[in-house]
Amino acid sequence: MTMKRFFDDAFHRPRALLLIAAAAATAIASGAMFLSMHEAEPIVAGPGVTSQKMLSDYVPAMAGTPADTPVFILEGAEPGGTALVLGGTHPQEISGLMGAVLMVENATPQRGRIIVLPQANRSGFTHTDPLEGFPHTYKIETAGGTRWFRVGMRLTNPVHQWPDPDLHLHPQSGERMVGWESRNLNRNFPGDPDGRYTTRLNAAIVALARAEGVDIVLDMHEAYPEYPIINMLVAHERAFEIATLTMIGLQTRGIAMDLMASPPALRGLSHREFGDHTEAFAILSETANPAMGRFRGRTDEALVVEGKDVNYVRAAALDRLFVPFDENGHPLRERTARQLATIEEMLIAYNEANPDKQVEVSGIPAYQAVIDEGIGRFLLPVPAQ
Ligand SMILES: [Zn+2]
Repeated sequence: MTMKRFFDDAFHRPRALLLIAAAAATAIASGAMFLSMHEAEPIVAGPGVTSQKMLSDYVPAMAGTPADTPVFILEGAEPGGTALVLGGTHPQEISGLMGAVLMVENATPQRGRIIVLPQANRSGFTHTDPLEGFPHTYKIETAGGTRWFRVGMRLTNPVHQWPDPDLHLHPQSGERMVGWESRNLNRNFPGDPDGRYTTRLNAAIVALARAEGVDIVLDMHEAYPEYPIINMLVAHERAFEIATLTMIGLQTRGIAMDLMASPPALRGLSHREFGDHTEAFAILSETANPAMGRFRGRTDEALVVEGKDVNYVRAAALDRLFVPFDENGHPLRERTARQLATIEEMLIAYNEANPDKQVEVSGIPAYQAVIDEGIGRFLLPVPAQ
């Protein structure tokens, strides 16, 4: 059939025209949605940010790739140590991103430096798993207007790294993992600059840590309430003393927190590989996110932000969870407050152990204030473009 004949026929068949129009409308709408998912949420440099870079400033090969990500440097007037704070290693675990954002927008070091990567795996923020009904974004109201943030996924977007092998081998150790873990930023440290997307990103973040002489790393995560490793710190053996003091500091403030040692045979994780391959003390934190779990009910923005779910209240009554869960749930503000309190206590513990290379910081939003007044109270207005 020639094109002319096709259009002649279509012209005489209103139903065909209608179908073509419907197909075009669907393609345009889904295309626009797809492209909009690749736009990152705005993060505002607060009063403590002294310079803002991109990861490609450390590893030029990252420039122009979807893995390139903002690096916020907060430097005090007095010299001291350097702390690296990672959010968004797993972009579904949103208290990590939010903890990092509140640091960037509020914290001001007096001594030493804090380097923050809020969106460590930016690719993971550009998709959600199919058939799970996850919202792509959520909103936080502030005095200066509405701010929006991404709900991403744990793994790199397959658009940026595909296909998955049947079996993934950790490059340095040869540890065998299921194929999709090749897209997991927290299974591929210390990375491989000549590898695929995810391992190149791992290597670039480690290169940043080495170039900046990072002394301590906190990698902020979440897991579902039925997973045993929640409200927990995981620490490399060199960081165990600091992590123990961090845990005690939190417990003293009434913030339940547990601690486990990084298993030496479990490779590719930030708490293992930063400890083994850099000078830094390496710690990972986990809070409990009901929007990630299998028991969850309706998965909407309210669940993502407010963290309330009757299914989890029932599961807690049946003793199936590893955190208490009542009708108040575990809202994002509480989980973010935990991450911030962990940073505070970790720096106190680090400073005690390292009096010559301290990191002193003010302005971190206080635990109870974040819970009582909400996250929006500590977010800055986004400047007009
Ligand atoms: Zn995680």
